Amino acid sequence: MKKDCKQGTICVQGGYSPKSGEPRVLPIYQSTTYKYKDPDQLANIFDLKEEGHMYSRISNPTVAAFEEKISQLEDGVGALATSSGQAATTIGILNICGQNQHILALSTLYGGTYTLLSTTLKKYGIEVTFIDPNMDVEEILNYSKPNTRAIYAETIGNPALNVLDFEKYSKVAKTLDIPFIVDNTFPTPYLCQPFKHGANIIIHSATKYIDGHANNIGGVIIDGGNFNWDNGKYPEFTEPDESYHGIRYYKEFKEKAYITKARTQLLRDIGCSLSPFNSFMFNLGLETLHLRMEKHSQNALKLAKYLESHEKVSWVNYPKLESHPDYELSQKYLPLGGSGILTFGIEGGKAGAKKFMTNLNLVSLVVHLGDVRTSVLHPASTTHRQLSTKELKKAGIKEDMIRVSVGIEDISDIIEDFHSALSLI
Ligand SMILES: *Cc1c(COP(=O)(O)O)cnc(C)c1O
Repeated sequence: MKKDCKQGTICVQGGYSPKSGEPRVLPIYQSTTYKYKDPDQLANIFDLKEEGHMYSRISNPTVAAFEEKISQLEDGVGALATSSGQAATTIGILNICGQNQHILALSTLYGGTYTLLSTTLKKYGIEVTFIDPNMDVEEILNYSKPNTRAIYAETIGNPALNVLDFEKYSKVAKTLDIPFIVDNTFPTPYLCQPFKHGANIIIHSATKYIDGHANNIGGVIIDGGNFNWDNGKYPEFTEPDESYHGIRYYKEFKEKAYITKARTQLLRDIGCSLSPFNSFMFNLGLETLHLRMEKHSQNALKLAKYLESHEKVSWVNYPKLESHPDYELSQKYLPLGGSGILTFGIEGGKAGAKKFMTNLNLVSLVVHLGDVRTSVLHPASTTHRQLSTKELKKAGIKEDMIRVSVGIEDISDIIEDFHSALSLI
């Protein structure tokens, strides 16, 4: 495949180029182990002097093909697949942040990421300040500290659906000389490429649109190779790693220092590796990502417009509606579509929402999102149940909010199901 292929071509053919006589389709290398001709060759691989696989906790050819494809789609320098999106976030942060250090994070993050930051990482001495998306650069800078190590945000907040003002946060990151980490799960690289807008590290829950069919849990971290780790603030990249016989990641791996350390140190020690089978499935999912994201976005906009015109609907939130507060940002950063998630509220508040969901027929109630099948969820009583009323408000979640993951069925059938469910409340 040529280097400058378009997204749709990378989706189909990226990451795997068989030689003559090899399988046309990416094989599942269901092997933990690899064979070598002599101990010196294996020693060189251990020393990272030679490329090669040694043990599937650390790397595997099927996993590597998936990593390569997603890295090409995001236009990064390398990727690391993990066993879940949560594992990707955990490794992504622990790779640059430890005890007595601090991160800035948007308050409108996915519930699981929020509790990871507010509770679990806190126990390990990492302090997080949650910032309101409406704060300006100066206000955010006031919350920074000398030990602030990163700023963390989502391209489209789950489920507030606020669109990330990349320019604002990359300004904060540049001023503080810290990396800008972006969870790009909702748009996927087909609808938005955060590295083009100042992000340094991208996180995905591959479980969602990358998989696309609600079959597999997984995650991935992509390195933009565009942050200077040699700025005096990140000794873990410039000083010797004693657990890896004194390797200096920045000196040895330059723009790939971040992703190499994440693999050789954290994946080695924590072991939240993605399986070859799940990698095969994610690769299969990516083959149709461009088609699905286009259709999810078209269907979501049509459903959003239908709901906006319905008398029993009190509000609708979708980034591509002109009524959305971040409509301008969505035009700027999501030109090809707003992805498949929308939220709305109906007459009768929380009770009305519950009744409506029970009335649905084609559309099902599930916790998942990003699947080909349309589904609904009531975040306040499920995914964000652990949050207090105040935290719910900060996360942008109303009590009556119904979240819809709009699938790729025929839109007329989706609308009809919503129509009859609304008529029964
Ligand atoms: C689901 C989700 C995650 C967590 O991913 P898992 O694969 O479920 O661990 C992280 N970020 C966002 C935006 C998500 O929607």
